[in-house]
Amino acid sequence: MSARADVGVVGLAVMGSNLARNLARHGHTVALYNRSPEKTRALVAEHGDEGEFVPSESLEDFVASLTTPRVVISMVQAGAGTDAVVDAVADLLEPGDMVVDGGNALFGDTIRRTQALAARKLHFVGAGVSGGEEGALNGPSIMVGGSEAAYETLGPIVESIAAQVDGTPCAAHLGTDGAGHFVKMVHNGIEYADMQLIGEAYDLLRHVVGLSPAEIADVFREWNTGELDSFLIEITAEVLAHVDGATGQPFADVVLDEAGMKGTGTWTVQTALSLGTPVSGIAEAVFARALSSHRETRDAVQAAFGVSSGSATPVPDDVPGFVEAVRRALYASKIVSYAQGFDMLSAGAAEHGWDLDMGTIARIWRGGCIIRARFLDRITDAYREHPGLVSLLTAPVFHEALDGAGDAWRDVVAAAVRAGVPVPGFSAALAAFDGARRDRLPAALVQGQRDLFGAHTYRRVDREGSFHVLWGEDR
Ligand code: NAP
Repeated sequence: MSARADVGVVGLAVMGSNLARNLARHGHTVALYNRSPEKTRALVAEHGDEGEFVPSESLEDFVASLTTPRVVISMVQAGAGTDAVVDAVADLLEPGDMVVDGGNALFGDTIRRTQALAARKLHFVGAGVSGGEEGALNGPSIMVGGSEAAYETLGPIVESIAAQVDGTPCAAHLGTDGAGHFVKMVHNGIEYADMQLIGEAYDLLRHVVGLSPAEIADVFREWNTGELDSFLIEITAEVLAHVDGATGQPFADVVLDEAGMKGTGTWTVQTALSLGTPVSGIAEAVFARALSSHRETRDAVQAAFGVSSGSATPVPDDVPGFVEAVRRALYASKIVSYAQGFDMLSAGAAEHGWDLDMGTIARIWRGGCIIRARFLDRITDAYREHPGLVSLLTAPVFHEALDGAGDAWRDVVAAAVRAGVPVPGFSAALAAFDGARRDRLPAALVQGQRDLFGAHTYRRVDREGSFHVLWGEDR
């Protein structure tokens, strides 16, 4: 077989086949391989006219069909599947060739694979690809790790197929080894938090105000014209406006209220715990999905205490005023959750020696991914205008929004608590904000408790050093 493909894709399930089509549509000659050959055949049969494909039914033929240095993009199941493919491909490559893992790998695995392939003089690049199936086909956001040398070859390829916003590709080299997958993981965590906050806003409008799903769809469409303008608000309006064909009921009422998850939100929280960086908004979102799926617990508690519909209080007198308060509370909570996500990026960068450029990360999230929003422009600008910004909360544009949300945010959380509508995302965000602002935190008391039961010592406000009280003698 003559080598004529400039890039190859291994793994032709939903993501891989769409990415391969995207590459072909952008003028690349794309080598194709999938463990089960039916998927390769189906892709060529259904979309072979979209560009140049070179299908193979053996990995040897696939590798032989690539020009050197070879670039192989793996889009297979994360974990053991990726290890199997990376190992098998690496065995057939030559020094200087490159394997790109575009799956949702855990960044620690990417660091391990980078080292293993470097020992064989092969480049390994972990690249987070966002935007699901639609993004893979029409332009994803691509968060690239690996070496700068690898990006010299890979950059033009990924930038050609990425989403474009204002003429700029939503793809960039972010740092070495696992940086791309780390950023993608935090991106997914932020996505969880965003979705949870929007869900809570819906719950408040539905069960405190009493609006119908169709009316709430209109509210969200209106919000989508202002500072909340985002893909997630837009699609939420669409979901809420949808009527179930079988029953004529609002679609939102016929969907089982048990949210699934694939694990990247959980990874984000686990990693944040190891880094010691609070991402309470993301954690609450993951826990809220977990609670929703614990049917047995929910049934038992409902049987014991009665079922709550979350409408325990009268409808607010000033409905438009309350709707606006929910909008402000949502925006303020979103700012806190993004600030926490970017804090985590900083903590990860410090831990792993990555020089992450926060403005660039926000910029490449503006298109091709689920959290794409006008809001990200403000984050990019904040980091550009204030290099070394310690917390996004203090950037003037967000400072103003948080100041403006003040009373509305508290009123909404208080109304939710009174009505029995759970708002873990809104209240965690408010608590994080209040916690950061507080002059004295009860952490002082915790230091005292630790010193008493474990002689962990404590530090003082008026002197340097560590101190210990001889508690037994004082009691
Ligand atoms: P997937 O269901 O995660 O994986 C299926 C693909 O992996 C198939 O091509 C399968 O080959 C291959 N595979 C699994 N184990 C293998 C092994 N041991 N050896 C060789 N091939 C193996 O597919 P996907 O949904 O398209 O996702 C691909 C990657 O992108 C995953 O890492 C996923 O996490 C990530 N991702 C997915 C989305 C999404 O929206 N779906 C979004 C972003 C990122 P066979 O056909 O032979 O079984």
